[in-house]
Amino acid sequence: MKIDFHVHITPPDIIANWKKYAEKEPYFARLCNSRNNRFTAAEEIITALEGENALFERAVVFGFAFSDLGLCRYVNDYVIEKVRQYPKKLTGFCVVSPCGKAAKEIERCCGHGLTGVGELFPQGQGFDPANEKETALITDVCRGLDIPLILHANEPVGHLYPGKTDVTLKQLEIFVENNPEIKIVLAHWGGGLFFYETMGEIKEKFKNVYYDTAAAPFLYDERIYSIAKTMGLCEKILFGSDFPLLRHSRYITAIEKSGLSTEERQLILGGNAKKLLKI
Ligand SMILES: [Zn+2]
Repeated sequence: MKIDFHVHITPPDIIANWKKYAEKEPYFARLCNSRNNRFTAAEEIITALEGENALFERAVVFGFAFSDLGLCRYVNDYVIEKVRQYPKKLTGFCVVSPCGKAAKEIERCCGHGLTGVGELFPQGQGFDPANEKETALITDVCRGLDIPLILHANEPVGHLYPGKTDVTLKQLEIFVENNPEIKIVLAHWGGGLFFYETMGEIKEKFKNVYYDTAAAPFLYDERIYSIAKTMGLCEKILFGSDFPLLRHSRYITAIEKSGLSTEERQLILGGNAKKLLKI
């Protein structure tokens, strides 16, 4: 089964009134105002998964991770509703901000069929991934429920783009160090952190860490896949498109040219996700 691990969906009310929501959410405003920004309701990803030329069969979907937990709850309700409506196509994750009520919200969402947390935005939501006290408000419950967590990551170098934050690879390393038992997905190739898996101590510490490919065509050339292969990381890479920012077709040529074996391709395009999601 081919699975897209990184898809954003937005309730129609937020799509129509994003300016109102952006007033109190600076990171949301920053992304909304960017040239590349696109919103989609759940139905567009369903169309992409069902069409004649569909390249994927299932998607992991989540709402925008706001700073305000009330808004997180609102988008989580939308994800819950859509997962119920399209159980064969969608797997839903919930978003929360680290606060006293975060654990309850994650438990509520999991009670309604969601099976993970993310994509969370450390800087966008105003938390420090290296601050154990703060992150424990979320990670304790992920550990308890044994569910994966997707964290946004970005490269410390290269061109600027609206989602690029100042969170360092070191902060992410500390987050991983503090949470060895949680299955952590570092989005966008972990902001390049995966290159450091050639260091013995990182490889050891990052046993439960996965990396998704979201936004790869904007960031790396196609050699990224063969590099992952050379590094022996094919079992840790999850295909993620960052839909609706990028469509599935944008990735396929690079993956086809990557020199991956059929088996390695299957792992990245769905096998690893299937195992992680226990489906
Ligand atoms: Zn991201």
